[in-house]
Amino acid sequence: MHKIIIVGGGLAGSLTAIYLARRGHDVHVIEKRGDPLQDLSSYVDLVSSRAIGVSMTVRGIKAVLSAGIPREELEQCGEKIVGMAFSVGGKYRVRELTPLEDFYPLSLNRAAFQRLLSKHAYLNKVNYYFEHKCLDVDLEKKSLLIQDKDGNIKSIQGDLIIGADGAYSAVRQSMQGAMRRFEFHQSFFRHGYKTLVLPDATALGYRKDLLYFFGMDSKGVFAGRAATIPDGSISFAICLPFTGTLSLATQDKNVMADFFNRYFGSLPLPIRQEMVEQFVQKPSNDLINVRSSTFHYKSNVVLIGDAAHATAPFLGQGMNMALEDAFVFATLLDKHNHVLDKVLPEFTELRKVQADAMQDMARANYDVLSSSNPIFFMRARYTRYMHKKLPNIYPPDMADKLYFTSAPYDELQKMQKKQNVWYKLGRVN
Ligand SMILES: Cc1cc2nc3c(=O)[nH]c(=O)nc-3n(C[C@H](O)[C@H](O)[C@H](O)COP(=O)(O)OP(=O)(O)OC[C@H]3O[C@@H](n4cnc5c(N)ncnc54)[C@H](O)[C@@H]3O)c2cc1C
Repeated sequence: MHKIIIVGGGLAGSLTAIYLARRGHDVHVIEKRGDPLQDLSSYVDLVSSRAIGVSMTVRGIKAVLSAGIPREELEQCGEKIVGMAFSVGGKYRVRELTPLEDFYPLSLNRAAFQRLLSKHAYLNKVNYYFEHKCLDVDLEKKSLLIQDKDGNIKSIQGDLIIGADGAYSAVRQSMQGAMRRFEFHQSFFRHGYKTLVLPDATALGYRKDLLYFFGMDSKGVFAGRAATIPDGSISFAICLPFTGTLSLATQDKNVMADFFNRYFGSLPLPIRQEMVEQFVQKPSNDLINVRSSTFHYKSNVVLIGDAAHATAPFLGQGMNMALEDAFVFATLLDKHNHVLDKVLPEFTELRKVQADAMQDMARANYDVLSSSNPIFFMRARYTRYMHKKLPNIYPPDMADKLYFTSAPYDELQKMQKKQNVWYKLGRVN
């Protein structure tokens, strides 16, 4: 069995650690934050509140359950989601989703889910090095330089290094520096985001079993998303451009009061005032898209999760794909009897095409959510009607497949393109 070093003990890193430890590997995780089982403060970032809720679709759920984590424990970390609500002109249009299997998506408390993964990693005897930062990777020697919180630097070496260290991955940066012909592309969305949190969603009239979307009536100025987590709070990701009169930089409370009155007018005035206060106080966060030409180097190093394919949350699939990466990697280890020079190239081959499709769909969704699109609802209804009438010819609604299955992203993308053609034909006729 191999000594495997995982850089990043976040969601992808911790789930991968569980899969590998259960297969008998000697797993070491380097994580720059503290231990979430001892102290969650570095995970619950209430000031910038980058990470409060996250929605898990069936793809993510299956990846977690396949690692041996009991379903009841996972479901305790989230609320079941049965549909989506789109705010247009101050009113909500609800679109119920149709489950295709026995699972509903979950709106997770991210910190609770992180603790669940960490607990199972401990139970499976994963070795964590908290408050240790990876500074550099020697791809040939399969070794890392790591620094503890007191500034002490040491080296650690293994048979395989897995980069699960997120969008700004140090492992990927080492690959960029040392690999020939490694292509890398990083782009930022015009919008960034701030997360606002209100403590009692139900009292404000929000259903805890819906995901809320805002801004389709804003002509591209604003896109927003909100979801409830089990403590009853609802968090709003408010996505706005970085500059302009109405932007993430806006400190003028009158401008922001107009904004919240316009798009959240159904909320009581004191709540809107609270949103204004939170907005001006909180820092903004970037939305980044990262593409790499390969996810591995020889049989030595592999990237998973956001380190390989970070994207903006407009499709709600970044974490889901990251968790599925862990599942696919473990499946390939079994298939190739843990022979790494067979596993790593196949991992890139399988996942690169899926990552590209997922990112393309996320960007397309961003365009829909951040632009005025009155035909969106008509089109969704048309798709459902046609699929019901002609189930063998007309593809089903893509959102149902996305939320309720683990269908490959490239298949979903093809389905979406097919629907576009059908939709145009339908309109011509
Ligand atoms: C506002 C927002 C909402 C989102 N909502 C959803 C959603 O609803 N559904 C969904 O599927 N996805 C969503 N995502 C995307 C999701 O958050 C990410 O795809 C997911 O967190 C990726 O997990 P990861 O483990 O790959 O990376 P991360 O979660 O970024 O974890 C990386 C880990 O590596 C550690 N690390 C980083 N650098 C180093 C270093 N040098 N040394 C040691 N440790 C290091 C970090 O501390 C962290 O613990 C959202 C993202 C945003 C920004």
